[in-house]
Amino acid sequence: MRTPIIAGNWKMNKTVKEALELVKDIKKQERNSNVEAVLCVPFTDLMEVKKEIDGTDIKLGAQNMHWEDSGAYTGEISPLMLKEIDIDYVIIGHSERRQYFNETDETVNKKAKAALKYGINPIICVGETLEERESGKEKEIVERQVLKAIEGIEEKLLKNIVIAYEPIWAIGTGKTASSKDANDIISFIREIIGNKYGKDISEKIRIQYGGSVKPANINEIMNESDIDGALVGGASLKAKDFLKLINF
Ligand code: PGA
Repeated sequence: MRTPIIAGNWKMNKTVKEALELVKDIKKQERNSNVEAVLCVPFTDLMEVKKEIDGTDIKLGAQNMHWEDSGAYTGEISPLMLKEIDIDYVIIGHSERRQYFNETDETVNKKAKAALKYGINPIICVGETLEERESGKEKEIVERQVLKAIEGIEEKLLKNIVIAYEPIWAIGTGKTASSKDANDIISFIREIIGNKYGKDISEKIRIQYGGSVKPANINEIMNESDIDGALVGGASLKAKDFLKLINF
């Protein structure tokens, strides 16, 4: 059985001071130990949040990274740097990065491989735009994004990746894909991975849904057969909401 994984994607929110307040509030409450809770925080918060969650079962993630170990890449952060902080996860290829920072299937693939090389589990984001969905292309798009993202990854490492299916039209808009639609695409993702790499592998990979997940819809989403968790933006910024999500 796959352990459910609920990851908060704080995006460009929370100074160090604000981050520590939020983490302290999350720590104060009881948490469901059967759910893996992950905080994907800005780079500047990583070190302090790491110290604050020390001794708890809360996991830590970054929101991006470069694929090279070091070099002349002004403003970038390398997997080696993240490894030293001992983080567990890194979000790769979020739609905001694809849209505003020119990330492509190719860079997503390089980053996913680099993360795995350092034992950091990539949360690889895929998802179609509204236009693509309206023209019935969502499966074609998602298939391409998934297969390109994992191309050439050593098969024994594939179980360490998490995929987040985030239809772009559902992110931060208050519009959620119906849980059935989300489950359809997520089982399709599992099927295409299974066809290419075998069911043994596809059954181990966790696939989350993301896009306007909130306390009011988490149960419905998590009740679906193939959805293994959620990647959550807005609702991860308040302790009381995030706690409701991880205690679904
Ligand atoms: P949202 O963001 O929950 O605010 O829609 C999700 C995401 O972008 O990961």
